[in-house]
Amino acid sequence: MKNYKAHLTHPIFSTLRKVVEEQNLEAYVIGGFVRDLILNRDVKDIDVVVVGDGIEMAHAVAKKASLGKVKFFKNFGTAMVRYDGYEIEFVGARKESYSRDSRKPIVESGTLQDDQLRRDFTINALALSLMPANFGELIDPFNGIEDLDSGLIRTPTNPETTYSDDPLRMMRAIRFATQLNFTIDKDSLRAIRKMKDRINIVSQERVTTELNKIVAAPKPSVGFKLLFDTGLLQIIFPELCLLHGVEEKNGVRHKDNFYHTLKVLDNVASMSENLWLRWAAILHDIAKPATKRFNDKAGWTFHGHEDKGARMVPKIFKRLKLPLDAKMKFVQKLVALHLRPIALTKEEATDSAIRRLLFDAGEDIDDLMTLCKCDITSKNEAKVKRFLSNYEMVKEKLVEVEEKDRIRNWQPPISGEEIMKTFGIKPCKEVGVLKSRIKDAILDGHISNDHNEAFTLMVEIGKELGLTPNS
Ligand code: ATP
Repeated sequence: MKNYKAHLTHPIFSTLRKVVEEQNLEAYVIGGFVRDLILNRDVKDIDVVVVGDGIEMAHAVAKKASLGKVKFFKNFGTAMVRYDGYEIEFVGARKESYSRDSRKPIVESGTLQDDQLRRDFTINALALSLMPANFGELIDPFNGIEDLDSGLIRTPTNPETTYSDDPLRMMRAIRFATQLNFTIDKDSLRAIRKMKDRINIVSQERVTTELNKIVAAPKPSVGFKLLFDTGLLQIIFPELCLLHGVEEKNGVRHKDNFYHTLKVLDNVASMSENLWLRWAAILHDIAKPATKRFNDKAGWTFHGHEDKGARMVPKIFKRLKLPLDAKMKFVQKLVALHLRPIALTKEEATDSAIRRLLFDAGEDIDDLMTLCKCDITSKNEAKVKRFLSNYEMVKEKLVEVEEKDRIRNWQPPISGEEIMKTFGIKPCKEVGVLKSRIKDAILDGHISNDHNEAFTLMVEIGKELGLTPNS
């Protein structure tokens, strides 16, 4: 019998042990905490299962260690206490049975074995004893420790039943495989392929939580490829699947934009933890299928995919129940601008083009540059070299122009308010025209970034538009 008491050194565990001893309880630490403890991953959530009443045990622990409030949910028989930055959840051991149309089981109290049997994967069913007689001993009925060693995701019982009972487990299997760089057992993969349509009974929020954990993993492409190969991605994210495949006409092929996107995503993941920058990578070419054309001269083109893609972002975010706030706006902006930096060649990278890029990207210029660099995935070395040299040149010029002109957080010196006040007009089209022409004149270097010059120009343009300033 393996014993992991050497891992249970934190004072929390001696408190738990004392309570178990004094009250003569049968209790274990179990699940993800044990898995991560053995894998040496940092964990702050501890799950304790007690054969009996979880809420009572939580109260006893809180009393013993003089902890604050116990948060408990009578309906679920669970309770939570905080201890030194850890969250400890207590739950009574349970047995579960499922009906066909819901992932919510019928629950009754059970033994430790029942509780281990209801868990999704062998590596998530490991338990360590908290009883003094065998404190720290591993209870592992499904040989999860071997799977943990060899990096295998396997279900404790029949995989088809496991995934059909609670189809969220299909997403969880792929998520763990991605986070831990584990392989999914062959029978499990086959079962996921067979049961994929059952994902439709899971709420979008839960699917997206798992999807985001895949996106946040060190190498997200692992998860996306598994989602694609099992057929789950076609159900939860069909727009991305449309990027898959290569067409050929007159001997000209375009690249497979699905695998290109995954490469860009991995590249971004290797440079940034920012989840939304990763989403921008996922969506940067999302409108390529919709804008794909072929002509004899240019071959395959995807004109306007950046603008159309930016317009697609809100609908996709809404369906996936991703936030529709500034995070979505950020993704939209990056999708819209993703071609801009690399498109600038030495001849076109004038100060005014650079100022415009800085103005349009604002605060997000560094993230945009990261996305652009990661978007260079061509197998053609000459192309990569040319793009990288454009990228470096634009990057240098950005620093130069930013130092000189401070455009990043710049606002034009004349506001819409001032325009309306000067001409005595209400919000209307002319206000927008005046604002953008003043902005363009400054960015293009026709006038300097100065209130007086801008004011004079405003009066001139106003005249053209038939407006007279109030005297
Ligand atoms: P993470 O903290 O990374 O999400 P975790 O395994 O700790 O991973 P939780 O969702 O906190 O995930 O679940 C804790 C434990 O509860 C799991 O280790 C597993 O034993 C069990 N569990 C969670 N969700 C399910 C499920 N859908 N089906 C069966 N068992 C589950």
